Formats: sequence, structure tokens, C-alpha cells
Amino acid sequence: MPTVHEIEQSLYAWAPRALAEEWDNVGLLVGSGAREVKRVLIALDVTEWVAAEAIERGADLIVAHHPLMNCTWHKVQNVLDDNAQGRLITALLKHDISAICMHTNLDAADGGVNDVLARTLGLEGLSMLNDEKIGRVGTLKSEKRLEEFLYDVVQYLGCQGVRYRDGGKPVRRVAVGGGACAEYIPQAIALGCDTFVTGDVKYHDFLEADGINLIDAGHFETENPVCAAIETYLADKFPRLETVRSTSHKDVIQYYMK
Ligand SMILES: [Zn+2]
Repeated sequence: MPTVHEIEQSLYAWAPRALAEEWDNVGLLVGSGAREVKRVLIALDVTEWVAAEAIERGADLIVAHHPLMNCTWHKVQNVLDDNAQGRLITALLKHDISAICMHTNLDAADGGVNDVLARTLGLEGLSMLNDEKIGRVGTLKSEKRLEEFLYDVVQYLGCQGVRYRDGGKPVRRVAVGGGACAEYIPQAIALGCDTFVTGDVKYHDFLEADGINLIDAGHFETENPVCAAIETYLADKFPRLETVRSTSHKDVIQYYMK
């Protein structure tokens, strides 16, 4: 069976560490590199419920997208049992479960988060949206009305709903940015895109995005499709490894419509 370290190195062969943003924290973050892995659980985040699922399903390793510690939203200084993050890391260690996180390096990688998102939405002829290689631009086979495209986004990404601003254009040339990529709206406009799909779009981003259809399809929904790509990759590289996708991890954001 492959070791945690071998799996980490194999993931780096796909999504090199050098592609990660400077502030990011990627790679093996918890556990033991020497440990052999029989079963790996793949999830977008290492949450409390994903850790519980890994324990229940007997996984030796979790491969996730978002770093579970020492990043902008989990500034871990200590591992104590008086907070949820400390309890999560403690539970993983107690059960000999390692965690590997592939974040902005997987956003940028060929066949990573953004390529998967673009292809899931039916885009072809993909190119880069920006120098960081985060985000892609592609073209639909044929032009669609915005309403039709919104329907497709919801269907293909499994969204409960989307927030959007109608830019008054049909949809053909589309930019995508998995996660929170509203900062790249000006690039999408400059590259002649009529539509931009991302997540976590703020009020002022919507206000300022003039002349482009702007769609907030959700952070989770725009990134979660990469989990299937991680599974396919690992199953191909390590045929004896059991790969399982998380069934417990879903978007915690819901919509209540009046
Ligand atoms: Zn993200």
C-alpha cells in the first residue's frame, strides 16, 4: 500500500507546491508521512463531520482542498480541546488519520479546480483568466440566453439557487473562478467575457460589475466538482488504494425564499 508521503508526492506531481500562493498552507498538515494508507476519504474541507466520517469509514487519510490549519480562516497557534479546531485535529491524531490539503496549487493546476469547473459548465477552448492561473476562460458550443445558462449552472453544480446580476448579454464567452474570485471580474471584462461564474460575491462586487452577467453559484458548489477529479487521479495512480468520496460534506448555506 502507498504511504501518506507517497500520496502527497503524487498529488504534488499533479498540483506542484510552487503553484500555491505564498500565504497558503498546503501538503501534509496532520499525521504521519510513513503510515501506509488502505483507504482515503476525499472531501472539499476537513470539517468535524468529515473527520467523524473518516473515523466511521476506517479511512487512514483525508485528502481535502481547503487547508485545515494555519491559513487565513484557521490561524492555529495551539491544539487544545477547548475549541472546535483543536478537537478536530486531536480526533484525527487519536485515530491515526492523516490529512493532506491541496489548495491554491490545485486551483491553478492543469485539470484542477478551475479546469474541472469550466468543463462541468460545458466550456471549451480554455485559457487562463489571470497570471496566477486561478480561473479560466472558455466558450460554450452555442450561445445561450442567460436564463438557460443559469438553469444549467444550477443543474450541473447541484446548487440550491444562485445569486446573479443580469449584464444584458447572451452567454457565450464565460470566465470561471472556483471559490471566491470576484476580484478577477475586471480581468473577465477585459478578456471580452459576457459572463463570470464564481462564489462569495459581495454586494459592491455586484454593483461594480457593469456589463457582464455575474453569477454567484456558491463557494462549495464551484469547487466541490474537483473532488471527483481527485478520486479519479488517486485511483489511477494507486490501483490498490480504496478511494471514497465524502457523503457527509454538503454546503451548509441554505436559501429561504419569500
Ligand atoms: Zn475555496
